[in-house]
Amino acid sequence: MNTEQTTDLINKPIRVGVLGYGGLGQAAARLLAPKREMLWIAAADQKGYAYAPEGLNSKQCEAIYKSRGSLGYLESGGSSSDRSIAELIAKAGNNVDGYFLALPNLPNTFMASVAKQFIESGWQGVLVDAIKRTSAVEQLLAMKDELQAAGITYMTGCGATPGLLTAAAALAAQSYAEIHSVNITFGVGIANWEAYRATIREDIAHLPGYDVAKAQAMTDAEVEALLDTTDGLLKLENMEHADDIMLELAGICPRDRVKVGGVVDTRNPKKPLSTNLQITGRTFEGKISTHTFTLGDETSMAANVCGPAFGYLKAGVMLHKKGLHGLFTSAEIMPQFVR
Ligand code: NAD
Repeated sequence: MNTEQTTDLINKPIRVGVLGYGGLGQAAARLLAPKREMLWIAAADQKGYAYAPEGLNSKQCEAIYKSRGSLGYLESGGSSSDRSIAELIAKAGNNVDGYFLALPNLPNTFMASVAKQFIESGWQGVLVDAIKRTSAVEQLLAMKDELQAAGITYMTGCGATPGLLTAAAALAAQSYAEIHSVNITFGVGIANWEAYRATIREDIAHLPGYDVAKAQAMTDAEVEALLDTTDGLLKLENMEHADDIMLELAGICPRDRVKVGGVVDTRNPKKPLSTNLQITGRTFEGKISTHTFTLGDETSMAANVCGPAFGYLKAGVMLHKKGLHGLFTSAEIMPQFVR
């Protein structure tokens, strides 16, 4: 991007909506507050939405959400609704350039159904998700032509993993002629699981004996009882994670060479291990080597998901302006830093 475009964005920032106002949605709004190239103007939760063309205040929104359970109670710009996404899309219309979908993917078809809602509404712009499961990305892939025809640029798998780490794998792969393995191991520490209910339920769905439907149906008390048996830890191996299909689609390696696992501590903000990516391959000279990319332990899940999500939203806006619509993944596009 040239200097002229950057100045344009500061004069006329990208107007952003955030769907889902839980752990990640709230962090997203906080992260955007000091940015000059993006303005947060719309948000929805399960029971309501907020829309303010001049910009929403993240502190006020968080206070209302925490005290009353929905943005719908916001004095200025709030509306209660059990069809919050549909109503917000209709109300904000093309004033929103792009949405970050910080929604639970429960059931596993939910994100695809939201994409369908956008297509049917006639809205045009950029959508970014931080979706995790391979089968969820496959549903969006099947909608690629519809998204394109609707004038939507949809960036999928743009959180941390998939997202930041998948993109790092795509970059690191350039040293090799052949990729032998991609191993992603994440460490997440959160002070309490209630701050990220969907994330934790979706992680539980990967444990032996569980699936998405079972995890979705668990009451909060059942989640707590399960976490009590593991001292608050979730140890995850060989997860169904879309990093695999995204790296395969980008032509980097077959999906069975990609492995994702990790440990989530739901009772301690300190990471139980350092999140890292190891990519092993053979160079054109025949040397076998491994690149390792390790995230700083002080960086939170929220920082590593929301930062990339908006970097991809900015990249998506550039693609959209050039008439490039359809479905893109974090393994094929470079995110752009949001100032
Ligand atoms: P959360 O449970 O804290 O919050 C979910 C929010 O969505 C709530 O505000 C809720 O009211 C709202 N919501 C639920 N159903 C809705 C509906 N029908 N309409 C409007 N709003 C609705 O969620 P979270 O823990 O922040 O996780 C959000 C998503 O991010 C999850 O799908 C999770 O898997 C994903 N995630 C991805 C990564 C990554 O690296 N790719 C990392 C962490 C989380």
